[in-house]
Amino acid sequence: MHKAPAIVVLGPGSLATARRIQQCYPQALIHGLQGRVEGVDVQYLRFGDTLRQLYQQDTPIIALCAAGIVIRSLAPLLDAKGAEPPVLAVAEDGSAVVPLLGGLGGVNAMARVLGEALGVAAAITTSGELRFGTCLLDPPEGYALADLEQGKRFVCDLLAGEAVRIEGDAPWLEQAQLPASDSAQRIIHVGCAARPASRDELLIHSRCVVVAVAAGVADLTQRVRAALQAAGIAEPALACLLASEADMAEPALHEAAQALGVALRFAPAAASPAQMLAEALPQARLESAGALALAIAAAPVAIERIGRRRGRLAVIGLGPGAAELMVPAVKAELARAQDVLGYETYVRMAGPFRDDQVLHCTDNREEMQRARHAFALAAQGRSVVVVSSGDPGVFAMAAAVLEALHMSTDPAWHRVELQVLPGVSASLATAAQAGAPLGHDFCVMSLSDNLKPWSIIEQRLDLAAQADLVLAFYNPISRARPWQLGQALDIVRRHRAAHTPVVLGRDIGRPGQSLRVVTLGELVPEMVDMRTLVLVGSSTTCVFETAGGGQWVYTPRWYPTAPGNP
Ligand code: SAH
Repeated sequence: MHKAPAIVVLGPGSLATARRIQQCYPQALIHGLQGRVEGVDVQYLRFGDTLRQLYQQDTPIIALCAAGIVIRSLAPLLDAKGAEPPVLAVAEDGSAVVPLLGGLGGVNAMARVLGEALGVAAAITTSGELRFGTCLLDPPEGYALADLEQGKRFVCDLLAGEAVRIEGDAPWLEQAQLPASDSAQRIIHVGCAARPASRDELLIHSRCVVVAVAAGVADLTQRVRAALQAAGIAEPALACLLASEADMAEPALHEAAQALGVALRFAPAAASPAQMLAEALPQARLESAGALALAIAAAPVAIERIGRRRGRLAVIGLGPGAAELMVPAVKAELARAQDVLGYETYVRMAGPFRDDQVLHCTDNREEMQRARHAFALAAQGRSVVVVSSGDPGVFAMAAAVLEALHMSTDPAWHRVELQVLPGVSASLATAAQAGAPLGHDFCVMSLSDNLKPWSIIEQRLDLAAQADLVLAFYNPISRARPWQLGQALDIVRRHRAAHTPVVLGRDIGRPGQSLRVVTLGELVPEMVDMRTLVLVGSSTTCVFETAGGGQWVYTPRWYPTAPGNP
C-alpha cells in the first residue's frame, strides 16, 4: 500500500505525457518547475531538492526527464538506509519507461502499468523478474514477505539453478516460470504461522487474520500483538482490525491500527468481539483472547468485505479559482473523494472528476440541506467533499456543516471523520494582487442582509470605520440587494476622507479577472457587482505608481501614534 506517486516535469513539453500518466494514478499530483510550466498541481523551485525531498518522504517518483538527471539528483541519498520508494524515469514524449529504484516497492509493476498506458515496453532489467516472470520478493496484495535479506539470498539460489517447491497456497505463482520440482530443497512457504524461516525457505505470510477489538482496552496495540503471539500467528499476517460501529470515533482504536500498520473496519455492535467476527467471517476459525478475538481465514482476507470503513467529510476551500492557488491538501482530498457536493459553479471549478466520483450540484442557497446530505453520505462510510470557493470558513460551507452536526442527534453523524481544509479567501487573493492593503489591522464583513438584520450591518460599519480599520466587504451588492452598498458607503464616509484608496477585485484568480484602484470619493455602487471584493483603506493606506504604469496599494505595519515609529 504505497503513497500516491509524484509526477515531476521540467518543461511544458512533457505535460501531455504527465496527464496520461495521471490517468493511471488519479491521486498523483503533477509537480512542475515554477515559471516554466503552467497548469500543474504543485510548483517547485529546484528540481534536485524536490526529488530528494520526495524520495526521503517515501513518495514514489515518476520523473519525466533523462534517467541520468534523476540518478545524479538522488545519488547522495542512495547509500543511506531508509526509504526506497519506486523511482522511474519516463521519456518526455512517453516513448520509454525506465524503472530505476525501488525493486521491492513495486517499481516494475508500476513500469508495466505505465508501459501499457503509453503503449511501450517497460525497460525491466531485474534478473529474477525476467527469469521467473514475477518478483518473488514483492508478493501481491494480501501477502507479505517475512524477511527481505533472506529473500534476496533465496532468489540468488534459484537464479544459480536450485529447484523450488511451494508449500501452502500461492495462486499468483501458478503462472510464474519457476524451476519447480517436488523433491526440491528450496521451499516457498505461504502461511500465517509465526515460525523462524530456515535458510532454504522463502517465507511469505498470507494476510488472513482479523482481530476484533473493543474500545476502552488499555495498551491496545500491545494486547493485539500479545494475542497474535499467543495464537502462534506472525504479525504481518494481520489483515485488519475490526471494531464496533459505536466506537468509530475512538482515537485509541485508530492509533492501534496505525501502529500495527493495518486498516480499521467497523461492524454493527455485537454481544462480544467473537460474535462480531463470527458474523463478519463465518468461514474462519475463531479464537478468543480476553477482550479481543481472532479470526483466522484460509486465504487472504478481502478487507473491503469486512464491515465498513469510517466515513469522512472534508469541507474544502478551492481558493479564488486559479489551480495554482489551491492548497495541495485540497487537491489530494478532491482526488480521494467519492462524493462531491456544492454549488454547481464551484463543483465545476473543482474538476475535472473521474467517472467513479458522484457529483451532487445544488443551488447556492440550500446550504443547510447540502450539509445534511453530506453527513448522510459520510455516515454510510463514504469519502465526501463539500466545496466552497475561497476559504470554507469565510461566509461559506464550514459553518453550515458544523451547525448541521451540532443540531443533529444522530450518533452516526458524530462519528464521521470531519475535517476543514483552508483556502485562499477572496480578500487575501485581492489584497495580494493590489500589494498589501491588509498590512495592518483590518475588518472583514459580509454586506448581505439575507442572514442578519441590516441594522447590525450599519452599526458594525460605523464602529469599524470609526476604529480606522481597513475594511474588506464580501457580498457587497446583488440584484436582490441594490441599495445597501450605497448606504454602507455613506456610513464609511462619515469617518474616512474622500482620498482614501479603495481596491475593487472582480473575479480574481478567474478568467477575465480585473483589479481597480479608485478613491472613496469616486466610488459608486455601479462599479461593484456580486463577483467583486471591496477593500476600503484606512487613514494610513497609501498608493504609488509601479514601474509598469500600474499602482501598488499598501497599509504600513506601523501606526502614527505608537511609540517607536520610523
Ligand atoms: N468563501 C469565499 C467567500 C464567499 S462569499 C471566500 O473565502 O472567498 C461570496 C463573495 O466573495 C462574493 O460576493 C465576492 O464578494 C467575494 N468573492 C469570492 N470569490 C471572488 C473572486 N474570485 N474575486 C473577487 N471576489 C470574490
